[in-house]
Amino acid sequence: MKTQTVAQPSQIISAPLTLALSKGRIFDETKPFLAEVGIAVDGDPETSRRLILPTTQPNLRVIVVRATDVPTYVQYGAADFGVAGADVLLEHGGEGLYQPIDLKIANCRISVAAPEDFDYANAVRQGARLRVATKYLQTAREHFAAKGVHVDLIKLYGSMELAPLVGLADAIVDLVSSGSTLRANRLVEVEQIKSISSRLIVNQAALKLKRAALQPLLDAFERVAN
Ligand code: ATP
Ligand code: MG
Repeated sequence: MKTQTVAQPSQIISAPLTLALSKGRIFDETKPFLAEVGIAVDGDPETSRRLILPTTQPNLRVIVVRATDVPTYVQYGAADFGVAGADVLLEHGGEGLYQPIDLKIANCRISVAAPEDFDYANAVRQGARLRVATKYLQTAREHFAAKGVHVDLIKLYGSMELAPLVGLADAIVDLVSSGSTLRANRLVEVEQIKSISSRLIVNQAALKLKRAALQPLLDAFERVAN
């Protein structure tokens, strides 16, 4: 049933399309979705410095951008579609984006973590004001507001695990998958905020204007995701 309905790559895309991906796990885990319609990316962002990669389909190219920038490129139509983590989309807000498919890749969760020797639950119970370091300001703000916990949020751009170890913060809000990074830094996950996976995102105008070109790709992504 799968292969019968799939058009040849040369038949499926008419209008030129740009797909925004970040290098690393999103690039790697998006490849099988493209392979479903016989498309391979020409180039490897890990070894090449090129930021625009052609594919085996002449009318589809891939641009390689920072994970947090993917929604921005798609929102403004510089890319027609892209793949972004739910964590990134929560911070971006999703304006101008259609989010049709949960790809169920790059699975992790966004959690609160604190040093082993910090009694987080007790601090919360006592109504302490907590300093929390994170790159997810929006998500953290909403989480603590909903719990009625007073926090001072400190924006960081990476290596959040370091902040509590050197006294910058009492706790962090960060992504957790296996928990090995937390353990290596003697931190424990004290609250899970949300499950995270990556979504396909599509520029809302492109969806209307390039529907014929996009639809077979969206269908392929949907098939592989489910
Ligand atoms: P960089 O690591 O280059 O600073 P980044 O952290 O934004 O950039 P990635 O690490 O590739 O980029 O993460 C991209 C997306 O993959 C994240 O937005 C998140 O949705 C997901 N992700 C991040 N870390 C993990 C993980 N450890 N396990 C599974 N998924 C993850
Ligand atoms: Mg990362």
